[in-house]
Amino acid sequence: MKKTLEKNKKLKVGWFTFSCCEDSTVLFTELLNEHWQDWLPYLDFKHAKVLKSKNSLTDMDVVFVEGAIASEEKAKELKKIRAKAKVLVAVGACAVTGMPSAQRNEFPEELRKSIDFLLEKFNYGEKVRRLDEIVKVDAKVPGCPMNEQKFIELIEQMFKKFNIK
Ligand code: SF4
Repeated sequence: MKKTLEKNKKLKVGWFTFSCCEDSTVLFTELLNEHWQDWLPYLDFKHAKVLKSKNSLTDMDVVFVEGAIASEEKAKELKKIRAKAKVLVAVGACAVTGMPSAQRNEFPEELRKSIDFLLEKFNYGEKVRRLDEIVKVDAKVPGCPMNEQKFIELIEQMFKKFNIK
């Protein structure tokens, strides 16, 4: 049976970035360039620093999170984001697997000692963590940077899941 779509309803989304090189953010904005006519009428960006200066951590349908978590402070931020989201998507290898952002986890003892002052200075944690070590992750877009086709498929799935289009 065909679902009834809710008129004028938009998908409330957020885009968040933690420790990484932000290449998936770049890809995301490129995808918006290509798909804006199809997507933008149905998207309501509640939080996306790459797109707008006024952002609020309000209730959202879907949050996309890229990057790995390098400190307890960032883990707390991630938990706050999780609490506002119905669906949390880990975007890119750093968020999904921790790597390559988590390379320092594998440093031999001597090399690790050489960066201790930096960990202390910036209050970084002992290990860099992937998202699902801290919060529940509902979906993953792998790749370094993210796999574009998988992202497109996922956003279309989210439109369907929330009866948008
Ligand atoms: S997954 Fe790759 S492209 Fe994405 S933030 Fe990490 S290093 Fe950068």
